[in-house]
Amino acid sequence: MNDGTAKTNLLGLTRAELDAFVAGMGEKPFRARQLLKWLYKRCVADFDQMTDLAKSFRERLKEVAVVATPSITTTQVSADGTRKWLLAMDGTQGIETVFIPEPGRGTLCISSQVGCAMDCTFCSTAQQGFNRNLTVAEIVGQVWLANRELGYQAGGDRVVTNVVFMGMGEPLANYRNVVPAAEIMMDDLGFDISRRRVTVSTSGLVPQMLKLAAETNCALAVSLHAPNDKLRDQLVPINRKHPIAELLDACWQYVNQQNARSITFEYVMLDGINDQPEHARELASLLKGQPAKVNLIPFNTFPGTRYQRSSAAAIERFREILNTNGVIATTRRTRGDDIDAACGQLVGRVNDRTTVRLGSKLISVAVQP
Ligand code: SAH
Repeated sequence: MNDGTAKTNLLGLTRAELDAFVAGMGEKPFRARQLLKWLYKRCVADFDQMTDLAKSFRERLKEVAVVATPSITTTQVSADGTRKWLLAMDGTQGIETVFIPEPGRGTLCISSQVGCAMDCTFCSTAQQGFNRNLTVAEIVGQVWLANRELGYQAGGDRVVTNVVFMGMGEPLANYRNVVPAAEIMMDDLGFDISRRRVTVSTSGLVPQMLKLAAETNCALAVSLHAPNDKLRDQLVPINRKHPIAELLDACWQYVNQQNARSITFEYVMLDGINDQPEHARELASLLKGQPAKVNLIPFNTFPGTRYQRSSAAAIERFREILNTNGVIATTRRTRGDDIDAACGQLVGRVNDRTTVRLGSKLISVAVQP
């Protein structure tokens, strides 16, 4: 990504920033629109191919700008068509991006950090530790790269129809880069993905959720995983700082402020831990009558974990209890587990800087405003 010069990576600029950049070069505003079209509608990175730009402008662009994405270290394709890329970061490290094709849609699961500091006990990314936040260009670059790799053609069908921030990292701990990246994804001159199809998933950083409600308009998913604080404190340590009541208040505020339909609550099914009928009833009483949907995720195992996946029968029973108590719940189909691309299996390559992990109680260092 860093080519050693001070050139500006155009994939890191929102529309307003690109307008300002182009104006700063003394060019007319429509040039910015032309550039956006080449970048996002035609997936072209080479300025020489941008044939409707004056040659002199192209030459100057080459001097001051680049269109750079992270480079691909490996690509794996699952038997079910799911694709996982390991992308190089800072030479030795890596993040993972996953594409999940389904009839009529293609979901890209992107990473927001190299590693993660939230320390959720059932997540393999947590075991890697945390290194750093991704830049806007590195986040946007994952979508750009997937489109290119999957053969997106100008005027053809969309390849990536949905983006979820459910890869490595806690997106709201990298708020200042995730928000402009989401803006570029939703911009009609950018990737032009509908706001209901760009989903930020959080483990529950309440102050950033409230900020997000005021400043953007994307969909929100919340990793709940437990119906009471005693259990959630164990599974999702950020709960000790922002307990369930505070978290749910922020969720309902988000829906009101955003005029959103609902919040999706993710709930990982851990055998004998959080999957009992009483947990389902407790969860139903928290969410009943609220704009909430529950997505049950069968636990995906990884080396060294102390947990096991709930049985299919236990998951089905849990779902039924929610449904009969007035809460809409679905079970997520596990995809790409033969290439370790399923939820919570992304490990990338992370040089841990453990001092900034939540487990070390130094969350203020890990969470940037
Ligand atoms: N940090 C964000 C997004 C990344 S994880 C968040 O917590 O929401 C995306 C989803 O996968 C989260 O709901 C997470 O809790 C879940 N997940 C993590 N590890 C998992 C595992 N081993 N099996 C199944 N789901 C897991």
